[in-house]
Amino acid sequence: MKSFAGVFVFPEEAAVSEGYLVVEDGRIVDFARRPPKAGEVIPLSGFVVPGLIDAHVHLSFSGGVDPAAELNAEPLATTVARAVARLRAYLEAGITAVRDLGSREGMAVGLARAVDQGDIPGPRIVAAGRAITPTGGHGHRNGVEADGALEVQKAARREFKAGARALKLMATGGVMTPGVKAGAEMFDEAELRAGALEAKKRGVPSAAHAQGLLGIKNALRAGITTIEHGAFDAWDDEAFRLFRETGALLVPTLAAPAGILEGEGRVPEFMVEKTRAIAERHRENTRLAYQSGVKIVAGTDAGTPLNPHPNLARELWLLAEVGLSLPDVLRAATLHAAEALGMSGELGTLAPGAFADLVVLEANPLESAGAYARVRQVVQGGEVVRA
Ligand SMILES: [Zn+2]
Repeated sequence: MKSFAGVFVFPEEAAVSEGYLVVEDGRIVDFARRPPKAGEVIPLSGFVVPGLIDAHVHLSFSGGVDPAAELNAEPLATTVARAVARLRAYLEAGITAVRDLGSREGMAVGLARAVDQGDIPGPRIVAAGRAITPTGGHGHRNGVEADGALEVQKAARREFKAGARALKLMATGGVMTPGVKAGAEMFDEAELRAGALEAKKRGVPSAAHAQGLLGIKNALRAGITTIEHGAFDAWDDEAFRLFRETGALLVPTLAAPAGILEGEGRVPEFMVEKTRAIAERHRENTRLAYQSGVKIVAGTDAGTPLNPHPNLARELWLLAEVGLSLPDVLRAATLHAAEALGMSGELGTLAPGAFADLVVLEANPLESAGAYARVRQVVQGGEVVRA
């Protein structure tokens, strides 16, 4: 048993309390106002929040100007080695858990195992393996193609057999695949339902890449648990109602279009054009969804063009900019992100039972959205990993 002494920020109540967080076997067991009678006491100086979570990353993508082209040109071992280096950077930035929503040959599943076994340092990884898409659909170059409910079911089972702990399905087109319209429907509702059901059976999250309104509604009706990007058409009342009824989470990934737009002249022109057409609406819909009570989750889509690893501090800044309150910005990267990973109670909280993953920030995140960019110390599973 040991304890960490400091000023703790609790995301549930958005409250700041000075005290002692008692840890045993890598998990939080208690919070006390007075020093515990036994065990080592480790002082933390700054504002201590639960380990931050990025709910949408692509560890095998570089975040360069054209990551898909880069992948096709490099050997698999190079991609793996570069991803291992990225994992260290996540940890240093206070991000102690990520969800990978599609990696080259499903390699994030293998990275997750290496981290779990203690072979390499890194955030805890909830990996979807390969993304599943219709033949010729968005992301087909690095995903797996399936058509019809039966094939989607089988593809999902194959990813789970390989060790995936989340599922990624393409409900609409996207920005990064040439010749594919960003908002156009991809999988239909029955195909999405087949995948969502396989994830549900295993108690793990199902994520739908969904940008057009029809695809978003299909995904919500199908029982998908997290909507990625969301929001390129104007949403109607039915969309907000479906979010409320299903309790689905929205992961807007505002950092993704921001990166592409800044890369004008360097990023492939078709990506810039597609992004310019939707960027303002994306921000507006995120704001409206938040105001209507949809839970917003912090996810960056890191690895996409000029969206480097790690980029969570920027996403949190952008979420504050579209109108999230500072307590809700903190919840987006802790409580709500843990829910998106299917790990509520284990991650994103300082409550007893959770992993003792902690980040010490220089400034109070309830007073500044920029606080996440200044990390002093990082604790993972009760061990100081950045002093
Ligand atoms: Zn993505």
